[in-house]
Amino acid sequence: MCGIVGYIGEKNVVDILLQGLYKLEYRGYDSAGIAVIDKDSNELKIIKKVGKIRNLESSMKEDGFFNINTEIGIAHTRWATHGEVNEVNAHPHYDEDKTLAIVHNGIIENYNVIKKWLEEKGVKFKTETDTEVLLYLIKYYYKDDLKQAVLSALKHVIGAYGIVVISKKEPGKMIGARNGSPLVFGIGKDDFVLASDVSAIKPVTDNVIYLEDGHIIEVTKENYKILTLEEREVNAKVHTIDWELESWEKGNFPTYMEKEIHEQPNTIINTTRGRWFFEKGELKLGGIEPVRDLLKKTKKITILGCGTSWHAALIGKYWFEYYADISTEVDYAAEFRYRNPIILEDQIVIAISQSGETADTIGAIREAKIKGATVLGITNVVGSTIARETDAGIYLHAGPEIGVASTKAFIGQLTVLLMMAIYMGRMRRLSIEDTLRVSEEFKKIPDKIEKILKQKDYIREIAGKIIKYNNALYLGRGVNYPVALEGALKFKEISYIHAEGYPAAEMKHGPIALIDENMPTIVIATKDFLYDKIISNIKEVKARKGQVIAIATEDDEAIKSHADYVIYIPDTIDMLTPFLSVIPLQLLAYYAATLKGYDVDKPRNLAKSVTVE
Ligand code: GLU
Repeated sequence: MCGIVGYIGEKNVVDILLQGLYKLEYRGYDSAGIAVIDKDSNELKIIKKVGKIRNLESSMKEDGFFNINTEIGIAHTRWATHGEVNEVNAHPHYDEDKTLAIVHNGIIENYNVIKKWLEEKGVKFKTETDTEVLLYLIKYYYKDDLKQAVLSALKHVIGAYGIVVISKKEPGKMIGARNGSPLVFGIGKDDFVLASDVSAIKPVTDNVIYLEDGHIIEVTKENYKILTLEEREVNAKVHTIDWELESWEKGNFPTYMEKEIHEQPNTIINTTRGRWFFEKGELKLGGIEPVRDLLKKTKKITILGCGTSWHAALIGKYWFEYYADISTEVDYAAEFRYRNPIILEDQIVIAISQSGETADTIGAIREAKIKGATVLGITNVVGSTIARETDAGIYLHAGPEIGVASTKAFIGQLTVLLMMAIYMGRMRRLSIEDTLRVSEEFKKIPDKIEKILKQKDYIREIAGKIIKYNNALYLGRGVNYPVALEGALKFKEISYIHAEGYPAAEMKHGPIALIDENMPTIVIATKDFLYDKIISNIKEVKARKGQVIAIATEDDEAIKSHADYVIYIPDTIDMLTPFLSVIPLQLLAYYAATLKGYDVDKPRNLAKSVTVE
């Protein structure tokens, strides 16, 4: 949620900040702004705009912002939490005499108490944000040492933050700090950059330090120093970014989401590479090898996630029960962390988050650890908080996912969960014969996804028929029930048409009351052992004049007489159908949204990496 960038050095500051914002825009895009210190006048120059970064860029051109002679600046793209979306509340925030400027990602939970205290001391706030309160708290402590002022202020702060602060009194210095929100530090040849993720750093350098919670960094043109809030010096490890900038580009696709949908066959190949040896039916999962003994003896797994990751977890439950014979429960991370969850001896908790920065999931991981669970992480972002805080884990290797509505990361998460279930199954009762069967079938999945993608024009046509309605129902059974939930989520988050996912058998216990000719039902009706039952559910919809779009197994001619539209997917074994059945649902959502003219990569009110509670 929200992206921040800070840069110090002799390259084109304004350009680096702006390009950084474009890279981070997927994290938040209700407003954006940049502050730099003008070297000629030693003044803070600030520009902010509501809306996307391109609005900011046009104003920067009009205002001659690109001509400012500067060596230091900070920038922000906002996902509002405190105070409505307007120019005043947009970051960077600055004090009344324009000495200090700050960008902040996160929430200062005790901002109200601090605000009252500062108001009693005469501070007049001009915004509704929690961030401005932090700014004035820093100012309160600021004499001539910015780092000390930030340190003193942060000692009073409860909440989550990634911040970068600059001051015209010390124009050659920027101070960064993090607690709960990501902040990465890039070390260039003769310059430095701080940013919410490596995409904004990559154009400057490949060498990065992932700052940790409770760390503060002082950066000058020549040097940097990392301290804990208790002022102990930290010797942090420098990592190298090992991917190319092109993976953050759209290539020949009009949107990131379309590109990412099409990348999914490759996602599976990349996620399984060097891990799943299909011919031998062998799995090597180095990331969880250190906890192998526990994997063998555990009797219970809890999988945690939010949104799409939670849906992946629900599918994982079917696999852990089916392939590994392990009792598995799934919970929303935000619910788990504030309940009193029962953690058994030797229990494993698996936490799933694309970004590895999801605040709810991080909170749940910490709770699970306090209760004695061994926690495994499934994330896509190397060096992310979840990757660091879990006991062991597996990366997706799906490459950056920029589209806010997750597609390829979901497929990557499913792939990892399936590998884990089979890996653990092999330590138990899963035979080599059954493992070879699923390996052989799984190997064919990427080609089968390609085949579904070829039907995109037909799916677009169906999307065109249903965008006039205000509601849609998604149904599935067994392992395809969570796919129905995921289909509905994708549909509502980008097309803004209300959609609900349900286990098909539950329809008659309530949602059937909604069915009429204006409520299309999308049913996953593949040829598995529950096929006859789902056909009955389809008939129940048809009997009430509902329109049915069926996702069916190829060669199932009979289903045509029950459904209004049929989208065929290739056959596979029952347990692997989610990899295929979800693809048409992603495309349906995608085309519904693009036909309505919406920005699918940046749907309203959403942000990619949800770093607030
Ligand atoms: N809480 C701050 C605000 O509402 C920062 C939000 C963000 O992370 O973008 O302005």
